[in-house]
Amino acid sequence: MKKYNVIIIGGGVIGTAILNELSQQGINNIILLEKETIGSGSTCKSGGFIRCFHQDSYLSDLALESIPTYMDISKEINFSNTGSLFMEKKENIADMRQEIARIQSKGYLLEELTPNQGQKRFPSIDWNNISGAVYEPMAGFANPLAASHYWTTKARESGARVMEGVSVKNIITKDREVVGVTTSYGKFYSDIIIVAAGPWSKRIVKPLGINLKIRTKAIQINFFENKNNQYPCFIDNTTKLYSRPEPGRLSLIGYPIDDWDIDPDVEYPLDKKNLSRVQNIAPTRIKKINYSSFSGGKYGFDAYTSDLRGIINTPPEYPGLIITTGWSGGGFKVAPAVAKKIVNLCLNKIC
Ligand SMILES: Cc1cc2nc3c(=O)[nH]c(=O)nc-3n(C[C@H](O)[C@H](O)[C@H](O)COP(=O)(O)OP(=O)(O)OC[C@H]3O[C@@H](n4cnc5c(N)ncnc54)[C@H](O)[C@@H]3O)c2cc1C
Repeated sequence: MKKYNVIIIGGGVIGTAILNELSQQGINNIILLEKETIGSGSTCKSGGFIRCFHQDSYLSDLALESIPTYMDISKEINFSNTGSLFMEKKENIADMRQEIARIQSKGYLLEELTPNQGQKRFPSIDWNNISGAVYEPMAGFANPLAASHYWTTKARESGARVMEGVSVKNIITKDREVVGVTTSYGKFYSDIIIVAAGPWSKRIVKPLGINLKIRTKAIQINFFENKNNQYPCFIDNTTKLYSRPEPGRLSLIGYPIDDWDIDPDVEYPLDKKNLSRVQNIAPTRIKKINYSSFSGGKYGFDAYTSDLRGIINTPPEYPGLIITTGWSGGGFKVAPAVAKKIVNLCLNKIC
């Protein structure tokens, strides 16, 4: 089989963003291998929130760097500019203000809202028990699967190869250097291998003696009928609820699930306990929804790191190996910035 400049394992939003960025940088002769179909992992379940403000400035910066890329392709990814709110409790307001000022100093528009201002401006949200909020007028939501397909198509047009239904079985090494992969379709060779296989990354690199510090955690989003779904995306750090309008006169509402170490190869049913928690808690925030109008949901998962910062790792014992996973429920909004970081690592190795 022929030798490639770069092999990418995994066609989720992270792998496809890397593929696109490599081809944008003029690196050709690259291949992405996906065991199922593009975006079939966490990516196709994602809520698609695009926003900048995080409590952790490392993540705010990754998200901020990603926003221009998403604005450039807003039509292709069905971006909906609803704006986004992050609502805080009293003890976090000082830190929130500091992070607002830090992000504003980079030229990104953020507004601090008092509960009174919030209630006036966004009356369909109940501001009870909220001590303050950050509002991002540029934020909203988009379709992560559409982004993955768009990047795949663009890269293919520039000559990149993408193979779906090809599962990587193991990474081949020679004298402690990566040289290729064995797959369900035969062997592929390259001196640069990028593992971007979400939770499956752990299994792929384990035979090399690398123990990735990630755990798989469930995430569920639930949909309810809502004819008046004109409100911004929001994350409510007082109740842990998050929500956004969903096309089709629906509202998407999520609440964290504490299911860890789930098997990403098993198809799980919707968690009824999570649904009833949402039905109990959400009426305190969005009052006018009929919560018995549950209209389906998605039970997905993501790879989590303990600090939620994701992994961009180049193990020194295997030159040529780059691992990126662990995006902890937020990989879509940071994918373009992660891709840029990975491609810089590749350029260092190729040049
Ligand atoms: C319900 C839900 C809601 C979410 N909401 C948001 C949100 O609003 N905003 C946000 O930013 N993020 C959100 N996320 C998180 C985001 O979707 C993920 O962080 C992101 O999709 C991770 O992308 P990835 O490419 O790392 O992994 P994945 O999308 O899981 O892709 C990994 C790919 O690798 C492939 N693969 C695995 N093993 C192999 C192998 N051996 N050979 C070849 N291919 C292989 C898989 O088939 C898969 O397609 C949400 C996630 C879920 C589940």
